[in-house]
Amino acid sequence: MSVVEKKSTNEAAMAQATWAEVSLSALAANYRRLQSAAAGAEVMGVVKADGYGHGAAQCALALAQANEIPAQWLGVTDAAEGAAVRRAVKDPAVRILLMRGLLAGEIESAMEAALTPVVWTVAQMDALEAAAVRLDIKEFAVHMEIDTGMSRQGVSPAELPAMLARFTQSSPLRLEGVMTHFAAAEEVASPQNDSQMKIFEQALEQIRAAGLRPEWIHAGSTSTVDAGSALPVLLRLAERSKTRLMCRAGIGLYGYALPLTGAASQVHGELEPVLAWKTRILSISDTAPGARVGYNGTFIAEKPMRLALLPVGYADGLRRELSNAGEVLITGKRARIVGRVSMDVTIVDVTAVPGAKAGDEVVILGTQGGERITADDHARIAGTIAYEILCGINVRVPRCYLSGDEQS
Ligand SMILES: *Cc1c(COP(=O)(O)O)cnc(C)c1O
Repeated sequence: MSVVEKKSTNEAAMAQATWAEVSLSALAANYRRLQSAAAGAEVMGVVKADGYGHGAAQCALALAQANEIPAQWLGVTDAAEGAAVRRAVKDPAVRILLMRGLLAGEIESAMEAALTPVVWTVAQMDALEAAAVRLDIKEFAVHMEIDTGMSRQGVSPAELPAMLARFTQSSPLRLEGVMTHFAAAEEVASPQNDSQMKIFEQALEQIRAAGLRPEWIHAGSTSTVDAGSALPVLLRLAERSKTRLMCRAGIGLYGYALPLTGAASQVHGELEPVLAWKTRILSISDTAPGARVGYNGTFIAEKPMRLALLPVGYADGLRRELSNAGEVLITGKRARIVGRVSMDVTIVDVTAVPGAKAGDEVVILGTQGGERITADDHARIAGTIAYEILCGINVRVPRCYLSGDEQS
């Protein structure tokens, strides 16, 4: 992903057809809000998937260096991303959890970058142990994931004894953390949450009974912090297992959260979107009534119209579902997308945006004047979630990093 350093955003952006502005101060403020809502639990800053499209290394550094509450733990996808985050955040006291688990080919680079992998199979333990011996590493911390009912990754209760037996005195592998992931944290009243919590509790008891003493347990995501209702239960589990509790927050850091059912939101309304996505008008044209617009003529002008061509398309991650449905902001006014979103360009209706001219800044996501368009708006139209919209902004869209309050 190309990165434009914030010397002069305008200057750098002038050369770009479309770009994203990432406010690192908004990111730090969101982290602060989540951490203070977490009721004494530590909050891991999840920067996986390239920081949900915001840039993993830049976001990791901003979180680790945040003034009042710096993040102690960061969560990444794989060894390559973890190594990039480690190059940005050199302090070994800042821990980096490799959340997706390791492929055999990633083990040595993960160890060299002092990453902490999540493990859940005996084969992973064997491969890690062999690598630690080969690299002469005396002690290597791992976190074990318990599958409490999501059937994604994690050791099942039935397989747990075999896993626990692998943490022998002579093994360089040390069980530092035990984690699980809730399948429906935003559906607060879902019975699946209670059943997952119960299985997690039983696993923690088995782990203590096996004589193992992890320092951390972690569970839950942004929704868990936002709802707050599972936090007392998790804090009691931590207390009983003599561990510390951590929640892993991703989407909330970037200013979004899933709508909750069954509980009031504690922080969602205070979170600020971190990313603004912009472009500028390439050209303006007037069309006569009857003109067909874009591929397959899915829009037909019924009156004389003024159209603006934008140099952004689905190859940038602008969802094709926004065809004839999405809007952008130009001079603080909403302009509707007309016709199909093309690969590299999109047409918008500026008939009611007098004065719109080539070169004008266009907001795809963000605020302009009193208007705002969010990733939730795009997600609603595209039938998905804000996560996918943010992660879907293509790497060819350069990210500019704003460290103060420059973001408009
Ligand atoms: C992505 C992820 C999270 C963060 O979830 P958000 O909803 O983005 O806060 C937490 N835990 C695990 C295991 C994840 O994969």
